[in-house]
Amino acid sequence: MNKKSQLFYRGRFAPSPTGKMHLGSLVTALASFIEARQNHGQWIIRIEDIDTERCHSIFVSHIIDTLNGYCLISDEDILYQSQRLDYYLESLTELKNKGLVYPCSCNRAQRQAFKSQDCPCLKDKNPSNQRLSWRLHIDTVSSQFRDVNQLCSTHLGIEERIIIYRNDGKVSYDLAVCVDDALQQINHVVRGADLFHHTFVQRFIQEQLGYPEPIYRHIPVVLDERGQKLSKQNLAKPIDCSFACLSAALQHLGIADPTIHFTNTLAGSINNIINHTHLFQLNA
Ligand SMILES: [Zn+2]
Repeated sequence: MNKKSQLFYRGRFAPSPTGKMHLGSLVTALASFIEARQNHGQWIIRIEDIDTERCHSIFVSHIIDTLNGYCLISDEDILYQSQRLDYYLESLTELKNKGLVYPCSCNRAQRQAFKSQDCPCLKDKNPSNQRLSWRLHIDTVSSQFRDVNQLCSTHLGIEERIIIYRNDGKVSYDLAVCVDDALQQINHVVRGADLFHHTFVQRFIQEQLGYPEPIYRHIPVVLDERGQKLSKQNLAKPIDCSFACLSAALQHLGIADPTIHFTNTLAGSINNIINHTHLFQLNA
């Protein structure tokens, strides 16, 4: 890590309130918090509630209350994506102006059929008046990012022609994340490995919009007993604020016996982990 990012480390935890906080989200929250603090950085909470149909204020409260219970408190006001549509639309306009998105009327099944080739919409010079989605116009291109000290790269192609703006007025997750990471000057992103491929697509979007490149750390996701990722969708058990949950989350992050660092408070225990382990120390 260079001196500049050492001085200005800005990390974030960005949950989607589509369910209550579960062990998987605690793992990500702790990993991002510990990395920020071990590198003398700031840590900011962002609520990714852009999908208003799936997100709910009850879940926002549970997530924030749980984080508060562990003393994982945002260094800045919590930002809500649902209040930031204007910023996303501005970036969409920029992508349109640069010819990096195209209007598409394909439904899911049609898109599936055209999966590895252009959809006809790309050739349609006079798209109909119906409300259209906007799709990323991506050709074969290489994309890379730094995952801590490792350079990851891949080729993106037609399959990554994701919807950036849906015909019902919803902005894609990938665009919103790129815009917010850039505007919030987030330079370190710690998140679940399930988002690994998204990172390549987000790097492409960042480059097109002239946004800086954060350094990433993808951490293994927590699996349930059937080997599936714990998620709100598969009704992962909500967690409370307890030493048992803290211990389970820290063990998942690679601390064999976290309890040796525990004090009589959750906050004190997390502080000890920050000060007495070098789990997420970024090297020069
Ligand atoms: Zn199409």
